[in-house]
Amino acid sequence: MEKKNVVDVKNLKKTYSKKGANVVEALKSLNLEVKEGEIFGLLGPNGAGKSTFINILGGSVLKSEGNVNVWGFDLDKNPRQVRASIGIVPQEVNVDPFFKPRDLLELQAGLYGVKKNDRITDTILKLVSLEKQSNSYSRSLSGGMKRRLMVAKAMVHQPPIIILDEPTAGVDVDLRIQLWENVKSLNAKGVTIILTTHYLEEAEKMCDRIGILSHGELVALDTTKNLLNKIQTKVVNFITDKKPNINENDLKSLKVISNENGKFCVSYEKSKINIDQIINYLIAQNIKIFDISTDDGDLEDVFLRLTKN
Ligand code: ADP
Ligand code: MG
Repeated sequence: MEKKNVVDVKNLKKTYSKKGANVVEALKSLNLEVKEGEIFGLLGPNGAGKSTFINILGGSVLKSEGNVNVWGFDLDKNPRQVRASIGIVPQEVNVDPFFKPRDLLELQAGLYGVKKNDRITDTILKLVSLEKQSNSYSRSLSGGMKRRLMVAKAMVHQPPIIILDEPTAGVDVDLRIQLWENVKSLNAKGVTIILTTHYLEEAEKMCDRIGILSHGELVALDTTKNLLNKIQTKVVNFITDKKPNINENDLKSLKVISNENGKFCVSYEKSKINIDQIINYLIAQNIKIFDISTDDGDLEDVFLRLTKN
């Protein structure tokens, strides 16, 4: 069955204009949908418009044009319901140094009108592994702990959608993995996740679908698997005993990248030819192959190709 869309964005535009400053078109005309239960990744270099998009959903930035629907609620008509449907973990960590995690979560629950009996403070503290620190001043928490506290804060009203803006920027590897696990377990409980990142590895590991944003425009939107499949070009390096004569027309899609004495590099398309055809082509010229190394490409290739200039 087709999953329903929990976020639906049509022709979303955002122009920042400040007196004396240049006008910035941060979002040009964004169209995208997020499906219930998925982990959706919005990928893009700095300045692409990721935070602008997230902050429009969260209500801290006003859109210039377009329609935004979250959990069936229109942002213009029902901003409160939109806000209640999402929990946002902002890019910047902002916690009062003299707050304790438990108090902060209780206060946040109060702000969202969650009744005392309905609060799940302990469950949340456990989920983000902060039970032990629940009564410590937040200034004594490590960077990673503070970030997890921000995740916890976004969860107090148990929203069906959690949005994380660059959740692991500046977080060390161990904590990053821990945070990924937290997010995965939330998702396993049925929470839809939207995250932005400029770590390709993170997007590749975490996301069911990925949208690539560049200069305020969506340049790709597909399942992670399909995006990876689009990487057609393979690069091969050969070390040989002498310089081969390569005529690019002999093998379909073959391109010579470099050809020095005994060392050359070619690229080809996986769907057009096979590596053994190249090897046979060399053997036919009596060339000895000492070594072969290949470069399979990853999401970074797609990303760089799409976000160039
Ligand atoms: P990202 O999160 O992908 O790095 P942002 O949404 O933060 O991108 O920024 C997109 C563009 O909008 C950038 O060019 C940025 O400088 C600009 N921008 C963001 N916030 C503001 C603002 N408050 N005023 C003016 N320009 C802004
Ligand atoms: Mg950002």
